Amino acid sequence: MALDQAETLPSSGVKNLVIVGSGPAGYTAAIYAARANLAPLLITGFQDGGIPGGQLMTTTHVENFPGFPDGILGPDLMDRCRAQALRWGTRLVEADAEAIDLSQRPFRLQADGRTILAHAVILATGASANRLGLPQEERFWSHGISACAICDGATPQFRGEPVAVVGGGDSACEEAVYLTKYGSHVHLIVRGDKLRASAAMADRVLANPAITVHWNRQVADAIGAADWLEAILLRDSLTGGTEELAVKGLFYAIGHTPNTRLVRGQLDLDERGYLHTLPGRPETSVEGVYAAGDVADAEWRQGITAAGSGCQAALAAERWLSHHGLAVTTSREEVEPKEVGEPKRTAESTEANYDPEALWQKGSYALRKLYHDSTKPLLVVYTSPTCGPCHVLKPQLKRVLDELGGRAQGVEIDIEADQDIAVQAGVSGTPTVQLFFDKELKQQWRGVKQRSEFREAIEALIGVHA
Ligand code: NDP
Repeated sequence: MALDQAETLPSSGVKNLVIVGSGPAGYTAAIYAARANLAPLLITGFQDGGIPGGQLMTTTHVENFPGFPDGILGPDLMDRCRAQALRWGTRLVEADAEAIDLSQRPFRLQADGRTILAHAVILATGASANRLGLPQEERFWSHGISACAICDGATPQFRGEPVAVVGGGDSACEEAVYLTKYGSHVHLIVRGDKLRASAAMADRVLANPAITVHWNRQVADAIGAADWLEAILLRDSLTGGTEELAVKGLFYAIGHTPNTRLVRGQLDLDERGYLHTLPGRPETSVEGVYAAGDVADAEWRQGITAAGSGCQAALAAERWLSHHGLAVTTSREEVEPKEVGEPKRTAESTEANYDPEALWQKGSYALRKLYHDSTKPLLVVYTSPTCGPCHVLKPQLKRVLDELGGRAQGVEIDIEADQDIAVQAGVSGTPTVQLFFDKELKQQWRGVKQRSEFREAIEALIGVHA
């Protein structure tokens, strides 16, 4: 199987182990289970409960994961975990788990329109970013309000403008510092009188003259006369008094809620909705079902603790499967699987290396040439260097173009490197995908979408003009 391909499921057969979730917990569980020859199946998740790769996909430098002395970008770390899981024979289903039935054995999981049977299950579904639920939130969502500064901070609308981050944890502090690269000033809105963030992170914020911390303030609403955010209404938590603060961006970093919807009523949860396990143990209230990572951890919530608990869950599942004589081990095709190597990056197209027939190119030169000269549908994806969802989306788009066998082409634009193009294209966040045909914009998508959406849109264009 090609490394980047999701598995086509066999119509019958019970899996030893199905892992749900693709953050550090899920991938670590997969690495251990695959090396134990359990041929695990991992349902990556897609849109429900965040994006594949989990919360590290929306962070910048991870400086506390052992083994990377100079830090590593969160999405790069997850790309490596994924490659390692695949290298040892994990099969991926790149879709959301739609239903999980733990009332009968083997357990039944629905994903990608199919039923998957499993003797053991590891739940590593993580936690989703919370929203404030402001009265005007929907109106300004993606028009000033964003849940991901790391994805959207580089968009032109925020450049040289005041912006705000709400929250007092590590995420809020990291995002505030990150946004000083783009905004004229960053306001950090903290509901209490102290930061919850680690001391190192808090120090960076408090020492940065481009950041003002507003203590004891709640965001009460978003304000704007037209279609972009212009100010936020702040309420003093102590006096109840309100004031307006002019900002063009409001970024949420107010914590997460565990993704337990699919097993509610089937497994014991604690009072905050986290999966209940004994301290330091991966076993849930149903035998053969294990928890790993943030879905069962309200306290530590670190990449490294999630990875550690993924390891524990896989070892516990392996023991349980062999104790009950349920494990059917499969030997790998190669004893020493091929090394993965460093990820390849697409080089920027120039006059010298531009290829009018290439399926995928990068940069403004290729975009201009293809826009004017190509007779095929053109997918343009706008990305930014730290955008984790872009990591998820790009391989999906490349696969669509591959499947279409040259009947459409793609170009990637880094909005930081090609700011003018981003302004011209009206891009207000990354990833944004635009589909052009005959020099006309036919369709636009924001965020990560299923492959089928892009393919159907392109096929409709080719069909119309066939
Ligand atoms: P946290 O749960 O740590 O912090 C959430 C913050 O949001 C708190 O300050 C909380 O306030 C505030 N908050 C919650 N609800 C509201 C609300 N309705 N209005 C205003 N403020 C609100 O979440 P994080 O995402 O920051 O961090 C999650 C985990 O990930 C942590 O363990 C963190 O250490 C880790 N992390 C590590 C990073 C790194 O090391 N590079 C980067 C990012 C995260 P209050 O304090 O008053 O409860």
